[in-house]
Amino acid sequence: MEKNPIIAGNWKMYKTIKETKDFLEKLSSSLNNQRANVYIAPSFISLFFAKEIAKDTKIKIGSQNMHYESEGAFTGEISPGMLKEIDMDFVILGHSERRNVFKEDNSLINKKVLSSLENNIQPILCIGETEKERDSNSTNEVLEDQLTKNLLNVSKTQMKNVIIAYEPVWAIGTGKTATPDIAENAHLYIRKVITKLYDKDIANSTYILYGGSVKPDNIEILLGQHNIDGALIGGASLKIDTFLEIINKS
Ligand code: PEP
Repeated sequence: MEKNPIIAGNWKMYKTIKETKDFLEKLSSSLNNQRANVYIAPSFISLFFAKEIAKDTKIKIGSQNMHYESEGAFTGEISPGMLKEIDMDFVILGHSERRNVFKEDNSLINKKVLSSLENNIQPILCIGETEKERDSNSTNEVLEDQLTKNLLNVSKTQMKNVIIAYEPVWAIGTGKTATPDIAENAHLYIRKVITKLYDKDIANSTYILYGGSVKPDNIEILLGQHNIDGALIGGASLKIDTFLEIINKS
């Protein structure tokens, strides 16, 4: 890792508004010039309050999903304009729980990526293989397919604002972290695909985060890999002490 790392917390469907406020107040008062760029994705209902607390800090606040249309008859959905109105910095797209539980496919994720970029909300695009795909040696093929389809029509200029998160599905919330070698090889391959789709400079400058059971005791070795630029963290981002330990070790 050569860049200042991004340490991003994905809170999924955890934390009430009060819990979100308490956490962010503690987090903002504990941060003082750490190297890491800190991103937090609370639930939709807490976003406005989270941004209020984070607005005079370096903490970036974003959502875990969004619709790609600017408005319409889409019951239960949130538009990019609604997120922009409350100054959201980023949006997580294509998380494996969105792909697997809510059946989002590559074409839908591509529409969301394009829409987030058009609306100046930085996408964190998640990709990753299932255990079955890894066992059948198709990891690289799956990663290339997801990148090619999810980034379709994303221009070179727009690509400079895209963050990629490599999240092997078998490592998410399971306690099974990818070994540093497995993660590094996947990140290296992702950079090769970005070089093929764009160019070497863009590939080198793109942040590629690792996600999957990141904890205080494995963050340093993961960030020690040349192609790992940060982490997207679920479970371990929910407890302030654990999350701060990760930030301080980054
Ligand atoms: C995630 O939800 O993006 C994630 C990586 O979860 P966990 O850290 O709990 O494996």
